[in-house]
Parts: sequence; C-alpha cells; structure tokens
Amino acid sequence: MNTTKNIFDYLRPHIAALKPYSSARDEFSGSEGIFLDANENPYQNSEKALNRYPDPLQKQLKAQIAILKACKAEQIFLGNGSDEAIDLLIRAFCEPQKDSILITPPTYGMYRVSADIHQIHIAHAPLAPETFEIEPEDLLIKAKASKAKIVFLCSPNNPTGNCPLTLQQIAYIAQKLDALLVIDEAYADFALMPSAIKLLEEHENLLVLQTFSKAWGLAALRLGMAFANPKLIAILNKIKPPYNINALTQQYAQKALAAIENKDKQVSEIKQRRAYLAEALRQKSNVVKVFDSEANFLLVRVDDADAVYQKMLAHKIILRNRSRELHCENCLRITIGTEQEVEMLLRCW
Ligand SMILES: *Cc1c(COP(=O)(O)O)cnc(C)c1O
Repeated sequence: MNTTKNIFDYLRPHIAALKPYSSARDEFSGSEGIFLDANENPYQNSEKALNRYPDPLQKQLKAQIAILKACKAEQIFLGNGSDEAIDLLIRAFCEPQKDSILITPPTYGMYRVSADIHQIHIAHAPLAPETFEIEPEDLLIKAKASKAKIVFLCSPNNPTGNCPLTLQQIAYIAQKLDALLVIDEAYADFALMPSAIKLLEEHENLLVLQTFSKAWGLAALRLGMAFANPKLIAILNKIKPPYNINALTQQYAQKALAAIENKDKQVSEIKQRRAYLAEALRQKSNVVKVFDSEANFLLVRVDDADAVYQKMLAHKIILRNRSRELHCENCLRITIGTEQEVEMLLRCW
C-alpha cells in the first residue's frame, strides 16, 4: 500500500469542502413504497415506466460490472460516456488558469479539449517516433517540471493502436508520480495486455477509464466507466449531475452484460479481421507501413495520405486522416469494419 499519497491533497479546496446535492433518491433508496418525495408524475405513461427518476448510483448495473471486472462496486463510477469522467476529473483537481495536465501526443483529443474548456494548461510528453512508446523516467521528469495535477495515458493509444507502456511501467509511474494517473483503456478488450484495474488496490492515485462505446458496440448509449479507489470515486459522485445515467441506459447495459458472449464473439472476429487487413494492406504499393495494433483500428502510413483519403471518400469510404498529428505524417486511421466493408476498402484502395 502506498501510504505517502493522499488523493485529497490534490483536490481543489472548494471541491473538498463542497456539500453535494442530496436527491430524493439518495435519501431513500428502497424500491417499495408510496413515493411522494420526488415530485414525479404518479402515472406510468409508457410501457417502460419512465415516470420515476433513475437510481443515481446505478447499483444494479455496478453490481454486474463489479463481477465482470473483479472489483468492488464502490470502485466504479459511471458517466455519460468516458468524456464525462474526463471532464469531472479536470473540474475536481485542476484550478483554471493555474494548474496543468500532462498528455502524451499523438493521443485522444478529448483530454486537450476538456482542459481548454476549463482553461487548464497542457504539458506534453510526446510518444517516441515510430515505436510510439513512453519512457517512464522522461514522463516523470516532464510531469514534475510542469507540476501536472493529472497525467492522461491512453492504452491502447488512439490513434497509434499500441500499448505505450507495460503494466509494470504503469505501476512504477503511479508509485513515483505526485499526481493523479489516468489510464484510458477504451480499447482494452482488443488488447493482449491485462487491464490496470488490477493495480488499483496498491495505488490510490490511479484511475482507469473504460467504455461501452467500442467493444460493447453501444456508442449511442453514452456509457463510460471509471475504476479507482472508493475515495476517488466518491469525489466524482459528489460533483456529478445527480441522475447522469438515465434509466434506459442502465437497463440496456445490464442486458448487454448478461449476453457478454455476443461482445466476446465480435471482439474475436474484429481481431482476426485486423490481422487480415494489416497483411492485405502491407501488399499495397502505396502503403509505407502498417503499425501493429491492439485496438479495433489500424494506423497506416501511406505515400500520400490526403490523396488516399480523397480517393476512398470518392467511393464513400470514410477514413480518419491523422497526418497532421505529431509523428503521424501521411497516416490514416482505419476502423476495422465488417467483412464486406473491409473487402470493399481493399477493392477500392
Ligand atoms: C472512443 C474513445 C473513448 C470513448 O469515449 P466515450 O465518451 O465513452 O464514448 C475514450 N477514450 C478514447 C481514447 C477513445 O478513443
């Protein structure tokens, strides 16, 4: 147990002192009775009975997720997409115009956008060119120099597709870092590397993000998960909008979790197709490099990214042009689609 760090020391003082809104459903959370406490309409107007407010802490859904992830329900926060958790973390820990976060470009764009919205400085510890790896000591030096309050690492990383650190390196960084360490595992289901969730017991300053948007195929649902020690989860619960996860989302996610074999089957098909597409693209004369991927997409360096992008667009195939990102000159990011979609891509290439 790392006893030198106390997560509350990093918190903005007014958030530490904040008395949260207490909703009617917080004060009484039983499911039986005559509910005259929340000014709801007593009539069930649809077959889904949407007249009642949803569970503000999503207890049933979290119980299911806790079993799947081998953690405690108190270690889980659910947000309206992972993006809500990213936003709440910045709001809880970073003082506008004063504090910094540290990111590792090229990486997911929302860390910067969220920081910009809150006027938080952004320090950079770029990934190594070509390998897209992170050197732990370099990261620690830059985190210290920038006095970053939060370090965001993405593993597997978007848009490069690789895992920039081993689990041991993540544990080492969490141990040494005097800040909150966020590991964004949006693509974890497609990777060989185990989740950093197993490090949570030992590191109070660690938080792991996952989502229902990618492997679970539920991007439209808007449901993101954050895993951390219960004290940190309690901070997020304190500042979130009281009913941030609607009742339909909670029910639908529970159904998806109960049919996990569907997700597993699709993930395994996507991984096989990822290997197939990588090999097929390596045969193309205008492909310079297909980077190894642990996610559901490939980063591909071509001779002229703008030209290939436009050519595919003419065939109504839309790729993500990442050529203007650091270390991604002439790179396109290609999501692994269905078998037919992948064949069409290869035929039009
Ligand atoms: C897609 C993605 C997410 C998912 O965000 P949601 O808000 O949960 O849809 C999070 N992080 C990364 C790196 C992503 O690529």
